[in-house]
Amino acid sequence: MLEVCHVKKKDLVQVMTGKERGKTGKVLRVHHKSSRVVVEKLNIIKRHTRPTGKTPGGIVEKEAPIAASNVLLYCEKCGKGRRTVVKKSEKAKLRHCRKCNTALDK
Ligand SMILES: [Zn+2]
Repeated sequence: MLEVCHVKKKDLVQVMTGKERGKTGKVLRVHHKSSRVVVEKLNIIKRHTRPTGKTPGGIVEKEAPIAASNVLLYCEKCGKGRRTVVKKSEKAKLRHCRKCNTALDK
């Protein structure tokens, strides 16, 4: 399997660049083809929608994808986003914080 992104769904990540720099959030979706991630409540864009039969229309706030290279997996021990190293165990490949060596996969 090709692993394009270093983050995956439900990961807690910190944004390292751009207008959301320093903020953390949960990954909602990963777009492997474009190497982009959608992070909960971050990079909100406003969409103006027309009223349809079901919805009243108006302004809808929605998360826009961020380039995966702009986010890092969040390390609770360090209190910030960190680069990770992958260590293989018997069962799975686990990602560890490169600085404090804490396992970030549960
Ligand atoms: Zn750490």
